[in-house]
Amino acid sequence: MKRLGLISLLLILLLTSGCLGKNPATSERILAFGTLIDVTIVETPRGEATKAMEQLQQLFARLHRDWHAWEEGPLQQTNQQLQAGTWFTPSPQVLPLLKLSIPLTEASEHLFNPALGRLVDLWGFQGRPGNCTQLPQPAQIQALLQQNPRLSDLQWQGDQLRSNNSALRLDFGAVGKGYGIDLAIDLLRQLGIRNAMVNAGGDLRAIGHRSGRPWRIGIKHPNGNVLGALEISGDESVFTSGNYERRYYCDGKLYHHIIDPRSGHPSVGTDSVTVIHSDAATADAAATALFIAGPDHWPGIAQSMGIGQVALLDNQGNLYLTPEMEKRLKLLNDRVRIRVVDIAPAE
Ligand code: ADP
Ligand code: MG
Repeated sequence: MKRLGLISLLLILLLTSGCLGKNPATSERILAFGTLIDVTIVETPRGEATKAMEQLQQLFARLHRDWHAWEEGPLQQTNQQLQAGTWFTPSPQVLPLLKLSIPLTEASEHLFNPALGRLVDLWGFQGRPGNCTQLPQPAQIQALLQQNPRLSDLQWQGDQLRSNNSALRLDFGAVGKGYGIDLAIDLLRQLGIRNAMVNAGGDLRAIGHRSGRPWRIGIKHPNGNVLGALEISGDESVFTSGNYERRYYCDGKLYHHIIDPRSGHPSVGTDSVTVIHSDAATADAAATALFIAGPDHWPGIAQSMGIGQVALLDNQGNLYLTPEMEKRLKLLNDRVRIRVVDIAPAE
């Protein structure tokens, strides 16, 4: 009798740990877009999950090359063609990302502006690492601001494209990771996988559930601690933009990689923004746009971008939350002052 009890206890343990009956989780790390991408696939036979991982490795390697802002590849070639100012047929590797970015720039009032490659480069966030002896000259910034490059400077004629702004240089750093994650989820679905998470250092999309339970994820606080936790299930993307990702200090002043297109300088006022949305490309672009919009203007931009779930931490310790986000975010940091802001997203 005692032995029977022990056996059933063991069986329960095995079942709940996912080692028997269900297929265990398969996890893998892939390096792309300058970050480690953790992929977790659950409830899928090991062999199928391993094959899916191989295909994801190839997908991310290709996207990394296709969209690299300063190494040789399709995007660099597109930038050279744009610089020439004549008509050309854009690379099919770049075109979808460019096309999906256009409505996002408009909805964000061009705060999300992937035409700003030159400014990003000037501040040392492309290839050449930023340093205090090579800060951009005010005149260089001013010249680019005057030329005001935007995706609306692109002219289209059938499948031909040209730019009428010589300052326009594409940099998809604020949306490429998101779109790449969307393509990864599409691929997993095509392979019949229903439960998975693709997580690039906290920027992620998850589908289905984790062995019957929601996916549980942490949101980083800019100081390196955890701001809060979220449970997600179904199909959702969570993206955070922060001033702590790529940065340097000169004379105690912080220079980070999110550039305000209005000032030409790294954006001030916000420390981090987290958004939840269905697709990852929109979530990625929106996190960047709302970061720049800042504590005073983010609700209007969130509304026009159709984003209903936002957490914005300003540089004064205020945490602005939409009511929907407030319901979901389990705060793990009691130093912040909560401000719930009602917006009516145009979804
Ligand atoms: P992360 O890469 O840390 O997730 P973001 O999604 O906010 O952060 O993207 C920041 C990157 O986007 C920068 O490194 C740069 O390549 C590019 N970028 C900077 N400023 C802007 C902007 N205003 N609009 C669009 N892209 C930008
Ligand atoms: Mg982004």
